Amino acid sequence: MLLRICIGLLLSFSAYAQHTQSACQQIIIVSTDGFRWQELFNGADSSILYNSKFVSDTAMTSALYWTASSEERRKKLMPFVWNYIEKKGQIWGNRKYGNRVAVSNPYHLSYAGYNEILTGFSDKRIIRNTQHNNTNVTVLDFLNATELYKNKVAFFGSWKLFENILNQSQTHFPINCGYQSQQEDTLTVVQQISNAILSFSENRALPTRADLLTHTLALEYLQKHHPSVMHIAFGETDEYAHAGKYDLYLQQAHQFDVFLSELWSVIQSDTFYKNKTTMFITTDHGRGRKNWSSHGPFVPGSQESWLMQIGPNILPLGEMKQDASISASQFAQTIANYLGMTFLAEHPIDNYSEDLMEKNKIVLTQK
Ligand SMILES: [Zn+2]
Repeated sequence: MLLRICIGLLLSFSAYAQHTQSACQQIIIVSTDGFRWQELFNGADSSILYNSKFVSDTAMTSALYWTASSEERRKKLMPFVWNYIEKKGQIWGNRKYGNRVAVSNPYHLSYAGYNEILTGFSDKRIIRNTQHNNTNVTVLDFLNATELYKNKVAFFGSWKLFENILNQSQTHFPINCGYQSQQEDTLTVVQQISNAILSFSENRALPTRADLLTHTLALEYLQKHHPSVMHIAFGETDEYAHAGKYDLYLQQAHQFDVFLSELWSVIQSDTFYKNKTTMFITTDHGRGRKNWSSHGPFVPGSQESWLMQIGPNILPLGEMKQDASISASQFAQTIANYLGMTFLAEHPIDNYSEDLMEKNKIVLTQK
């Protein structure tokens, strides 16, 4: 009996030691613009999938993404999410279980959404997606100003307007977005090729470049410079939805799942990141429950969002099924807290999410 107690104590001590050793030191935020929780949790929606107005080849697209069971269907759309993150991490926002994630801003547009996610402040003044510089401080700015994360922050995004949302001219960490080429003293071959492709794309009318370029540039930067805090922001899910092309919207969601798996396999095969890095994955707004291609203040349902996370401090609880309500305005402080910091700025900052903290047993320690 005594031996059993001793073994028990030893085991619990080693579990504790492992936990403290594997605490999150790096965080990678990944977002895909305007991707609905409906598709994340249920896969393709039959009321849209079989409508030839939205899908050019319904036979092919349904062969790819349709099956009667919603649990199997979502796996077809996002196999990495449902075969891997679901087992090793957490997926929040399935409203079928009363598990709710939403933006707090009343506009349900991208500038307001990214501002809310990154500054912890639902700023009512940010009404439109216009090219005005944001005066709010992001958690990325804040972390880059700390001793621990100085010059260890980077941002890559597909949408042009991140230049303004992050106030690039005033920001002291690398930002690459829209059709900007990657500027460094020495460029790798991958960076040179990406820059060449971007230069050909320069006059394109779309405000969003190809997500594949964002992914390629971000992954290259990650392996070359090892930033500790990074946000990679994809955008084509929103573009294809606005265009009313449900087949391409699904295809891009599937591609996003591939990006996540590639990113996670790079992270977990690099000793700098392995078992020390959290991937925090979300979207800037939802889309209409009925009017799926649109979003905005008058489109019901477009405030509805979701969140996935995987990392050393994240308990493997899978799809979250308890009653909960999390706001995107709580993400910034939660992210800072995951790194053991408290985010401070002159504007109001929403508190961290108690649901997320409690479910992950994060111990708040100031660094
Ligand atoms: Zn949009």
